[in-house]
Amino acid sequence: MMTILIIEDEKKLVDILCRALKIERYSTDFALDGEDGLKKAMKNDYDLILLDIMLPKKDGILVCRELRASGIHTPIIMLTAKGTVNDRVIGLDVGADDYLIKPFGMNELFARIRAVMRRKKTTDPDIAVMGNMLMDRVKHKVTRAGKDIPLTPKEYKLLDILLRHRGEALSRRKLIDGVWSPGFKELGNELNVHVRYLRRKIDQKGQKPLIHTIRGVGFSIGE
Ligand code: CA
Repeated sequence: MMTILIIEDEKKLVDILCRALKIERYSTDFALDGEDGLKKAMKNDYDLILLDIMLPKKDGILVCRELRASGIHTPIIMLTAKGTVNDRVIGLDVGADDYLIKPFGMNELFARIRAVMRRKKTTDPDIAVMGNMLMDRVKHKVTRAGKDIPLTPKEYKLLDILLRHRGEALSRRKLIDGVWSPGFKELGNELNVHVRYLRRKIDQKGQKPLIHTIRGVGFSIGE
C-alpha cells in the first residue's frame, strides 16, 4: 500500500484528505507544522508528500528545499491557498513535482497523485511501467493491474530485456543471447516456448496484449 504524508496546518482539511485517501486505498500520515513534517519526511519512507505552503514554524517552500537538499526525492505536491504565479514558480523551483490551488476537488487531487507517481516510475530505472504492468527490479517482482505475476527466472529475464528495448523489434538472436547465453544454440524451440509461457501470464484474457510477434524478426513489447 502507498503511504502519503500530509503536511498541512488546517486540521479539518487534514481529516478530509485522510478520509478521502483512505477510500482510494492510500495509507496516510500527517504533520500539522513544517518542522514536524520535515522531521517525519526525513525519518520515514513515504511514497508521496502533500505539502502546504503556508505553515507554522517552517513554510512549505523551506521544507521542500531542505528535503531536496538532503537527497530525499519523494514526489511532492504543493498545496497553495494563494494560487499566485509566484507561489507556483517558487514551489516547482525548489523541487516540487506539482502544485494544487486550494480549494481543490478530490478527483483532481487523485488525478495529480497518479500523474506524479507515473512520471516518477518511468524515470526510475529500478521500476519499469508499461500500461498497467509494472516491473520492480529491486524487489524482483512483476504485477499487472495490481496483481502479482510470479515468473520463472527465464521469463523474468525475457520480460526485462523486452522492457529495456521497448518499442524495438528484437531479433530472436538478441533475445536468446540475453536470456540464455551469447551464441546459445536452441535444441528445440526454447525461445518460442518461453515467450508463450510469458504471454500466458502477462497477457491474460481481458488485458491488452503487450508482447507482439514481429514476423521474420522476433518479438517486441508495447501497448
Ligand atoms: Ca496553511
